[in-house]
Amino acid sequence: VHLFTQSSEHFSKAHDIMMINCILLFSQWEEISGLDENYTPIRTYQVCQVMEPNQNNWLRTNWIEKGDAQRIFVELKFTLRDCNSLPGVVGSCKETFNLYYQETDVEVGRNIRESQYVKIDTIAADESFTQGDLGERKMKLNTEVRIIGPLSRRGFYLAFQDVGACIALVSVKVYYKKCWSIIENLATFPDTVTGSEFSSLVEVEGTCVNDAEEEADNSPKMHCSAEGEWLVPIGKCICKAGFHQKGDACEPCGRGFYKSSSQDLQCSRCPAHSYNDREGSWRCDCEDGYYRALSDPPSVACTRPPSAPQNLLYNINHTTVSLEWTPPADTGGRNDVMYRIICRRCTWEPEECFPCGSNVGYSPQQSGLTDTYVTITDLLAHANYTFEVEAVNGVSDLSRTQRLFAAVSIATSQAAPSQVSEVIKERVQQHSIQLSWQEPEQPNGVITEYEIKYYEKVSTYHLLQSITTVNNLKPSTAYIFQIRAFTAAGYGTFGPRVEVTTKEESTGSGEQIISFCSLCRHCGYSKADQEGDEELYFQFKFPGTKTYIDPETYEDPNRAVHQFAKELDASCIKIERVIGAGEFGEVCSGRLKLPGKRDVSVAIKTLKVGYTEKQRRDFLCEASIMGQFDHPNVVHLEGVVTRGKPVMIVIEYMENGSLDAFLRKHDGQFTVIQLVGMLRGIAAGMRYLSDMGYVHRDLAARNILVNSNLVCKVSDFGLSRVIDDDPEAVYTTTGGKIPVRWTAMEAIQYRKFTSASDVWSYGILMWEVMSYGERPYWDMSNQDVIKAIEEGYRLPAPMDCPPGLHQLMLDCWQKDRADRPKFDQIVGILDKMIRNPNTLKTPMGTCTRPISPLLDQNTPDFNSFRLVSEWLEAIKMERYVDSFTAAGYSSLESVARMTIEDVMSLGISLVGHQKKIMSSIQTMRAQMLHLHGTGVQV
Ligand code: AMP
Repeated sequence: VHLFTQSSEHFSKAHDIMMINCILLFSQWEEISGLDENYTPIRTYQVCQVMEPNQNNWLRTNWIEKGDAQRIFVELKFTLRDCNSLPGVVGSCKETFNLYYQETDVEVGRNIRESQYVKIDTIAADESFTQGDLGERKMKLNTEVRIIGPLSRRGFYLAFQDVGACIALVSVKVYYKKCWSIIENLATFPDTVTGSEFSSLVEVEGTCVNDAEEEADNSPKMHCSAEGEWLVPIGKCICKAGFHQKGDACEPCGRGFYKSSSQDLQCSRCPAHSYNDREGSWRCDCEDGYYRALSDPPSVACTRPPSAPQNLLYNINHTTVSLEWTPPADTGGRNDVMYRIICRRCTWEPEECFPCGSNVGYSPQQSGLTDTYVTITDLLAHANYTFEVEAVNGVSDLSRTQRLFAAVSIATSQAAPSQVSEVIKERVQQHSIQLSWQEPEQPNGVITEYEIKYYEKVSTYHLLQSITTVNNLKPSTAYIFQIRAFTAAGYGTFGPRVEVTTKEESTGSGEQIISFCSLCRHCGYSKADQEGDEELYFQFKFPGTKTYIDPETYEDPNRAVHQFAKELDASCIKIERVIGAGEFGEVCSGRLKLPGKRDVSVAIKTLKVGYTEKQRRDFLCEASIMGQFDHPNVVHLEGVVTRGKPVMIVIEYMENGSLDAFLRKHDGQFTVIQLVGMLRGIAAGMRYLSDMGYVHRDLAARNILVNSNLVCKVSDFGLSRVIDDDPEAVYTTTGGKIPVRWTAMEAIQYRKFTSASDVWSYGILMWEVMSYGERPYWDMSNQDVIKAIEEGYRLPAPMDCPPGLHQLMLDCWQKDRADRPKFDQIVGILDKMIRNPNTLKTPMGTCTRPISPLLDQNTPDFNSFRLVSEWLEAIKMERYVDSFTAAGYSSLESVARMTIEDVMSLGISLVGHQKKIMSSIQTMRAQMLHLHGTGVQV
């Protein structure tokens, strides 16, 4: 008798088989050998006490451990003899037997107590047999299956009760059902014994196969039915990152492939700039120099930091700097490029830079900028700053390569002084009050005057010293005083109000006072007079301290214009003809007739109709500047018309127009003395302007006007201001709107515009004059000009130019601006030349239109050497002496014929050395051509 497990298909498993032996318990059951239908010998248990009444024969199995089973199937195979076929049997013969079971946790003794058994059923035969003997082989075998359960003890016994039948028990198969282990949806479900009830399903959780994981919130489950069938799969497992599904298993992704998440079905090829040489990768490694940001999914290409921002432009407005740039050429393959600004303040000498600290403001912000501009505020005045604009992207912080940034060095211009504090009443009288005060903590420049505002009725004074007596006051009257300082950068804010009451009137003589009128006459104007305003306005000017005032510092530009320019009545002006086109409108010639004066020729600049308020301001700005100047070599402003249309600026008429066109028209027609005379005048005008603290920024022959007496006057005071005002007009580190050819290096590079940079421009202007309006650096590109200047080249002397003059030009073009002469010195040198015309003679061969367009300042005079080695030594290239000798260049003449290819063929591979040698060779050729008439053909 066997205990089997059974599922729908399978029937047995070796380890589940166990023999069940029956015990014959004091009864008539017998163990008898026989043959089954296949003639296989079998053992059977038989009983056949049909003749005897009151039979009660028990046969019991040994103890059957049930294991996990809860529902046990009992299949009985037996034969049963038909009572009718038994002759002489009466009453007692039965055709059924009873099946019992008893649950126990352990084996118990052999005693059967009927009451301990639970009856399963009365078993009857479907087919009983009649012929033959019990031992006869042709028995009709019955099969009956009964189910017991749910069982709760560890094991049980089965018992068969015969009550007088003729039975042969051939086999008892005891089994339970289970669902066999399977893999479904990448989950393994273990062998599962069916439930205790026929209708119950056993819910089983699956275990993911190797390298698989449960899908989120969808863990795998199956249900084992009572019949041992798996039903209703729910949820699933999926292959982990780095693995993909193949059949019922997860296999690693191959080399060069990855699978970043279990959610992905397939392995993918490594994205750009990444690789892997392992199997089962969830991501690919970045190639050298490429990175992945933390937030980058493995599916995106590896990227790198961006290149530096491009075209960094900047604009300074006093202590505010605006930077603007264009995005980097290489974004590193990312679209999260942002910018950050690094600000450093630098000392001059030795140049040392320190972080700007937190006092500096950045708008919109210092880092994380997505737009390509920033405004930096609250910088210190007169300070040198370096700004680095770095483009960063999501992988910049991962990269250990050098930071790439665009940088500019900028010198801030002036800021207004800080507040005047601590006003002290020194002496209070009936008609006067003496006040003193502390100089502002941050003057940000040289204080040229103080302004005192005081009112009973509001009045204003302008003074330089920090103590004064305000006179002409009423006795017993309370006055409020406020003081502010003034520098070239404009006014600071007013300090605190101070209230002072003058003394009571006393009989007798009053204080010695300065009259209002004399003050008014001294300062030359009174605001109250002009504007019909109640405020009284005074200005004390201190002798010899006349400085240029930037009209920009005026809140009200109209006030600036009227402070410096006379308002003319349009009816006094007669326009005759158009002579040119200016930035804001036509330039006309005409006549100005002021009452009581002779009429004079004037140039009239007009503001075109439809102007914006800003254009009007910029246009009049030139008048506000020009009106402050009074010098024979600076174009004179007659006045402005602002209260009518068109708005006009009226200037003295300069019959010969601009100097560059004038010289070109008269090429070669003047003597050197005449030319130097013109230059002297321009230098004198510039000396005046620089003494006033005015930096022109656009000094060039085109901005010099010439009158009928060949007097040259500096003009064009608009440009620098206009460019400052115009947000579009910015300067690039490589030129931009700067007049590159006329501008000193430091002004191009970091906008260091000073009188020293004006001196550089003056040198270029000299060159223009001496070459009769030739274009400086001819048709070279701006880029090449900047490069050449940086490498030390300077314009050669124009044809027939006295060497002294060229030397003066070269002095104006000193790299270090401190080494350049001042305008005062230039005037002195030119005066000396004019007084000694001999010095202006051109010695043969030192001054000629060059063949090589540029002259290297460091180029030696080739007359002084005869040997190639001497020449190489002079240009500090002596290391190549042997190369030249070996290649057969024994004379300077042979060297002069060399081309760049020849130089390279000597094995000189450093580009810098090649350039140095070639430029010296070019100059050598030029000198030879001139001195010896040696026609070196190149
Ligand atoms: P501007 O706007 O100052 O560059 O002037 C444009 C042009 O007008 C100049 O190039 C001159 O030819 C002419 N122009 C300007 N001012 C005068 C002047 N005061 N006398 C004669 N011509 C002038």
